[in-house]
Amino acid sequence: MSGKIIKVGAENLDFNNANFDTAVKFHGHICPGISIGYRVAMLAAERFKDRSKDEELVAIVENRSCSVDAIQAINGCTCGKGNLIFKEHGKHIYTFFKRGDKKALRISLKPDVLPQDEKHTALFAKLRAGTASPEEAEEFRVSHAAKSQRVLEMPEEELFRVSEVEIEPPEKAIIYPTLICSKCGEGFMEPLGRVKNGEIVCISCFEAKDE
Ligand SMILES: [Zn+2]
Ligand SMILES: [Zn+2]
Repeated sequence: MSGKIIKVGAENLDFNNANFDTAVKFHGHICPGISIGYRVAMLAAERFKDRSKDEELVAIVENRSCSVDAIQAINGCTCGKGNLIFKEHGKHIYTFFKRGDKKALRISLKPDVLPQDEKHTALFAKLRAGTASPEEAEEFRVSHAAKSQRVLEMPEEELFRVSEVEIEPPEKAIIYPTLICSKCGEGFMEPLGRVKNGEIVCISCFEAKDE
């Protein structure tokens, strides 16, 4: 692969030679989620070879978790480009296909990869609440890192169930005209407009309580 550098903020992330480090930099931390996403992304990248050029590779992800960031960083399937489709199913299922092709690769995380760990969950809750002691914080960090490492090292067949499926490819993103809200004066996408007191308004103004 060629080494074109894309400048992102202050850091140069080389997406064409994306590796675990790229995903971690993009995501902000190492965690089991980004590790799962990395393994999914690398598997898809290997099957589909090149990084998505011009909306070619599309990913359907069935959760909104850390893992999705690896798919954005490594496969180039992003929210903004419209080649990352979210389904809020709360499942670690990732389906990749080339636009215009019905054949898709479905990657499903095996349920026993991240078994329920009550101690870890309790520590996480304490950390979030800001009540963890420094020792507990360190204990969480170590266990979190160990889980991530385990995911990175697991053989593919222990991690995923991989299958080829046929899908009905979604339409290419349609570009809509911008309308100006008669209340706040901000622009919004035409199909998301509402009518309030006979005037065309944006959703935020429609939902806002009248003063
Ligand atoms: Zn994370
Ligand atoms: Zn408005």
